[in-house]
Amino acid sequence: MDHEELREKLDESYRIGCPFGHSARIPSEERETAYCRSCNKSHPFEDLIDKAERPISHGSLRL
Ligand SMILES: [Zn+2]
Repeated sequence: MDHEELREKLDESYRIGCPFGHSARIPSEERETAYCRSCNKSHPFEDLIDKAERPISHGSLRL
């Protein structure tokens, strides 16, 4: 996934998550990173995961 596509997905959906399964919701304007509030750090775009392509099991989640 190229970074332009990733940035669009960050803006439009909750698909993109940090490498630890959180939702990294704050793409940086000047860097190719997204900030994760749960981790309290920024992750480079190439470390982010697309949940639509790698679905997270909901078996352990109580919704
Ligand atoms: Zn995180």
